[in-house]
Amino acid sequence: MTKLAAGFKQIGHYRISDPYSLLPFRFMRLDAGRHVLTNMAGQHLVVPAGIMPELVERRLPTGHPLVPDLEAGHFVTQGADDVHLELLAAQIRTRQARLADMTALHMFVVSLRCDHSCGYCQVSRVSEDRKAFDMTPKTADRAVDLMLRSPSRQLKVEFQGGEPLLNFPVIQRIVERTKKRAGEQDLAFVIATNLAFVTDEILDFCAAHQICISTSLDGPPELHNTNRPRPGKDAHARTIDGINRCRARLGHDRVSALMTCTASSLAQPEAIIDEYVRHGFQEIFLRYISPYGFAVRAANKVGYETEQFLEFYRRGLANILNLNGEGVRMREVYASILLRRMLTSQPTGYVDLQSPAGAGLSALVYNYNGEVYASDEGRMLAEMGDKTFHLGSVHHSTWESLFLDSPLLDMADRTMTEGLPGCSECAFQPWCGSDRVFHHATQGDAVGHRPTSAFCRRNMEIMRHLVRLLEDDPAAAEILRGWAR
Ligand code: SF4
Repeated sequence: MTKLAAGFKQIGHYRISDPYSLLPFRFMRLDAGRHVLTNMAGQHLVVPAGIMPELVERRLPTGHPLVPDLEAGHFVTQGADDVHLELLAAQIRTRQARLADMTALHMFVVSLRCDHSCGYCQVSRVSEDRKAFDMTPKTADRAVDLMLRSPSRQLKVEFQGGEPLLNFPVIQRIVERTKKRAGEQDLAFVIATNLAFVTDEILDFCAAHQICISTSLDGPPELHNTNRPRPGKDAHARTIDGINRCRARLGHDRVSALMTCTASSLAQPEAIIDEYVRHGFQEIFLRYISPYGFAVRAANKVGYETEQFLEFYRRGLANILNLNGEGVRMREVYASILLRRMLTSQPTGYVDLQSPAGAGLSALVYNYNGEVYASDEGRMLAEMGDKTFHLGSVHHSTWESLFLDSPLLDMADRTMTEGLPGCSECAFQPWCGSDRVFHHATQGDAVGHRPTSAFCRRNMEIMRHLVRLLEDDPAAAEILRGWAR
């Protein structure tokens, strides 16, 4: 028996006279007539609310039609052996496998310079001509050497800014040094760029090194140009031109796009999704605005309430499901991540929704000046004067000092949803995660207060909405199950 299974065994209060024993599970109200149950491995079952007292007091007759489902989902067991516990433990091990492969994502902020002045920008960007805000070759070399100490078998190197293409020589240097010095590790490179400065030489280098491109596309021209102003007011035209050039040189699938929902976006989810369909994308991430950096200072202009975002999200998801019904291939990325957690035991690498939190454990950020942060959002906070998530510097830290003598271990300990107030009893805990930086920034407390947390409200409502669609709308459920695969 595994230690985990042994632990479960001690939780049970099985009496010979009981028709079944309970395995560990959480439950909560889905709506007035139904409860949703989840086990520790994330499997779920929706049951009529009325059966809960009988179920938890082990008074449900073994002939009740729900008992086979409850047993198949590892919520109860009628047997005296440990088979259910062993299966549950194996599923939990699979879901948590990423923890053994820590720090796979490494973000290099190669320049703070940018030609855009987006109202929601998380970065304290500087204007194009201030070269003091570029990463130097020496800092880049030290950051690469530090990154290569990561025990992860897969390293994803992401170039960020500002606009990273404004310091392309350092990108080249990092890619070449990483490839030369990496051992057995699998490498992947991504440049997050607004594409305004892409050239044939840059594309040749990207093609030679299989570098992917991630860009921003906020919607139709008027919305995109409003959200992402630049001199010439031609951000949308440059982005579309850049997408087409990148696809032609690198391949269609090597270019992805992200959108950020601003106050101007709220009324037009359908138009935003249509824009993605028009330009040949098969997925869209309906993304909430971040409460950091410039986004905080511009909150009155670009911000909105969580309920407004949820309305936007539900409308957008309905539109995507309709498009799928008409034969258009399109999926929403956040729903896909959650559905994979809800319907499979496979781990998902999405850093912003992990337990313990992904900051530092799944990702590290090397700022242009060599400072190391636990997450990109932690770097934004530091730009605003709060260095809580600063871990060290590539110029004097070692891999060991970043992890053993830093707040990282403390952060991990306090970000496990299994034990956080509110989350520990929440039925959605196995699908959710924690975001210490978000709660520190918005509530002044790293653990956070779930009843007033926008993070919790947003995730809880999206998960509740997905469970209802899976239960109540067979056509939508079939599409959503496909996204989980
Ligand atoms: S953050 Fe909210 S939805 Fe997520 S597990 Fe915690 S209580 Fe549940």
